[in-house]
Amino acid sequence: MANCNQQSIEVNTKDYVVQATAANGRVRALAAVVTGIADEIARRHEMWPVAAAALGRTLAATAMIGAMQKGKEKVTVQIIGDGPLEQITADGDGEGNLRGYVQNPYVDLPLTEQGKLNVGAAVGKGHLWVIRDLGLGEPYRGGVPLVSGEIAEDFASYFSQSEQTPSAVALGVLTGPDGGVRAAGGLIIQLLPEASEGLAVVVEQMVADLPSVSGLIDTGSTPEDIIQRTIGDLQPKYLRMLPLRFTCTCSRERCESALIALGAEELDKLIEEQGKAELTCRFCRAQYLFDKEELKNLQARIEKTRT
Ligand SMILES: [Zn+2]
Repeated sequence: MANCNQQSIEVNTKDYVVQATAANGRVRALAAVVTGIADEIARRHEMWPVAAAALGRTLAATAMIGAMQKGKEKVTVQIIGDGPLEQITADGDGEGNLRGYVQNPYVDLPLTEQGKLNVGAAVGKGHLWVIRDLGLGEPYRGGVPLVSGEIAEDFASYFSQSEQTPSAVALGVLTGPDGGVRAAGGLIIQLLPEASEGLAVVVEQMVADLPSVSGLIDTGSTPEDIIQRTIGDLQPKYLRMLPLRFTCTCSRERCESALIALGAEELDKLIEEQGKAELTCRFCRAQYLFDKEELKNLQARIEKTRT
């Protein structure tokens, strides 16, 4: 059911993920550009810059984890902290579908001492959860305490602790003066079990030497350029290029189910007090309106199931 009414929202983007191996298969690399989708979502939610930065970083990581999945296998990322953003949620899959939102888009904090958006303070202390739904019943759920709330470090900790894969993660977002996102994307470099200690040190240095990912994207770098720039000396071989699209699974039918789930009494109250219902999708902000007549029809459907 969930996959039947997936709708792709038309956004003109060049967003995609590439996956590569390097150092004769001992290193896995992924890089993503998600500028178009992050910009569209930031505008739809009228996000303030620190919220747009936090979401853009999370979207980039989710797109790359999604690209590690097969086909319709889904991944949901939840970052739940005690900071003013409250919660960041993003969904991705192996087909390049991507969406996300933050609980509180209107967060404003002073810049850090380095003059950067203070994503760590906006997220706060809490947990990062990664839920992989392989379509085999119970989804696999792994999580770690947040390291800094800056998101890249938190994903690196997740990969090494929860998936036993030492990883370097770089994520970056550049917000524009008009509230949009100018550049967003990221990089994940993972050491596979055959990698030696020496290779680990080399890769660590390569990632440390990388200029900011958002700066690279802002000046036109593609995901391949980012990988080349980081681990070009390790002869990367490109395995997969996955175009990304902003997709939402909301629909009128789902809203009907949600209204029916309120139960006859709550629905009665809604009809009496408001005479209508307006539902807004948390992910894409699509609005679904139900007038009195339609609510009464839903009421009748509840009655039917009772008899
Ligand atoms: Zn939606």
